[in-house]
Amino acid sequence: MGKLESFDQVVKPLVDRAELVRRLSAVLKTDCLLHQPEDLRPYECDGLSAYTQLPWVVALPENESQVQAVLRVCHAARVPVVARGAGTGLSGGAMPHAQGVTLGLSKLKKILEIDPVARLARVQPGVRNLAISEAVAPHNLYYAPDPSSQIACSIGGNVAENSGGVHCLKYGLTVHNVQKVRFVTIEGEVLELGGDGLDNPGYDLLALITGSEGLLGVVTEITVKLLPKPVKAQVVLAAFNSLVDAGNAVASIIGAGIIPAGLEMMDKPATHAVEQFVRAGYPLEAEAILLCESDGTPEEVADEIARVSDIMRGCGAFDIRTSRDDAERLKFWSGRKSAFPAVGRIVPDYFCMDGTIPKRKLAEVLDGISKLQDTHQLRCANVFHAGDGNLHPLIMFDANDDAQLQRAKQFGSDILKLCIDAGGTVTGEHGVGIEKINEMCIQFSQAELLQFHAIKQAFDEHALLNPGKAVPTLHRCAEFGAMHVHKGQLKHADIPRF
Ligand SMILES: Cc1cc2nc3c(=O)[nH]c(=O)nc-3n(C[C@H](O)[C@H](O)[C@H](O)COP(=O)(O)OP(=O)(O)OC[C@H]3O[C@@H](n4cnc5c(N)ncnc54)[C@H](O)[C@@H]3O)c2cc1C
Repeated sequence: MGKLESFDQVVKPLVDRAELVRRLSAVLKTDCLLHQPEDLRPYECDGLSAYTQLPWVVALPENESQVQAVLRVCHAARVPVVARGAGTGLSGGAMPHAQGVTLGLSKLKKILEIDPVARLARVQPGVRNLAISEAVAPHNLYYAPDPSSQIACSIGGNVAENSGGVHCLKYGLTVHNVQKVRFVTIEGEVLELGGDGLDNPGYDLLALITGSEGLLGVVTEITVKLLPKPVKAQVVLAAFNSLVDAGNAVASIIGAGIIPAGLEMMDKPATHAVEQFVRAGYPLEAEAILLCESDGTPEEVADEIARVSDIMRGCGAFDIRTSRDDAERLKFWSGRKSAFPAVGRIVPDYFCMDGTIPKRKLAEVLDGISKLQDTHQLRCANVFHAGDGNLHPLIMFDANDDAQLQRAKQFGSDILKLCIDAGGTVTGEHGVGIEKINEMCIQFSQAELLQFHAIKQAFDEHALLNPGKAVPTLHRCAEFGAMHVHKGQLKHADIPRF
């Protein structure tokens, strides 16, 4: 199993584990503080299960005051803190620190207020994404960002990762659907970011916190924006003989000025895995399928479906089906939504990569990924939010075979480099965590990374919040070979490293 290089995780707690437990016991109930190995084991990893680490302790506060108290104890004792929602993250963001506290937010799971007139809901961070839409459904409202993990993932985790989903093409990512956030600094101070109006004076700190992967503070309350449920939604399922044709259809739909409610692509290995699992009715002979959802009034939907179908046909679709009712619409989506577990069923392990590229580069990058399968002697299935250019190559391997694990990691790294070379980014919605931290050294210059560290330092002087994640140290980049060290001299050696 994977271990992180130690230089990113250097911390010097001022207390030992027993003393930390004693201090935390003073602020938490006994059943809210776990420190026996068998109790810690369930927290050893998140969705990136190739990396595991037991924390010193797990703290499970029941309210915001207890979150403050835990953070104050850790700050005083210089103990690292890793916030954790539901642990479904795919980039290792919630993987524990060996001498740290894993701060689980699962007990903060109340829906505090629903305002159907302002179309807002105020919720605690441990509330599941889907539970928000379920709670506001009686008002004919819903919360738009819909990660495929929405049945389990927490809204706090969504804010920390700036999560996306099928409907984010039209309705935006988490950052576009959050109105206000309360969060606690490492010193235990509560800050409220955002506001009730459309615009707020000052710097947009709400956007800074969204996607900050637990590095700047702990989110304790979120006010999310709600949307009226569309009167009608319909899905077109189209089959293509090549990924290039399907990619061209995506570019042509967006180029025609259509922003569908969702526009997703899957390649043949992915559709085959899915069909064995949920039988969504996908055409198995297709090299690629597209799922395109329209929503709105019945007239708007009919018009958009007709235009989209024409474009798909013009781009070579040989089979086009339109959902006849909501049950069939959900059946079409069921395959896409269960693509990850479907692949998980047929192989011992997989890495779900996450990179974003300009849509016009889709065919080129997919061809590159296909060639990498031969280079690394591993198979890969592709599922992606095609409308956003957000790729999810699923690299299949067996982690019990160390050689395969190493090849899979290199395969993933090479895919991210392809994305960067194509003018894209190393993440679309899953965050950086530990998974993509080395590739951040390629994506960003030394000067940019130093600015990131300066922001981190403004919030967390001693780098106690989620150290070793998301933003690489310059030493790590030098070690990774992505930064020039002249005669052993690192540039700006005087600047604090995290
Ligand atoms: C099958 C599957 C499908 C998925 N599909 C999608 C998808 O479609 N779109 C997508 O974007 N993601 C997807 N994901 C990834 C994952 O579900 C999201 O990143 C999700 O937002 C993580 O939420 P969580 O509650 O599980 O957070 P965790 O995994 O517990 O934590 C994630 C990160 O957030 C930080 N964090 C958690 N809570 C807080 C808090 N309250 N305050 C500060 N920091 C916090 C953690 O430190 C960590 O860095 C998928 C995962 C799986 C397993």
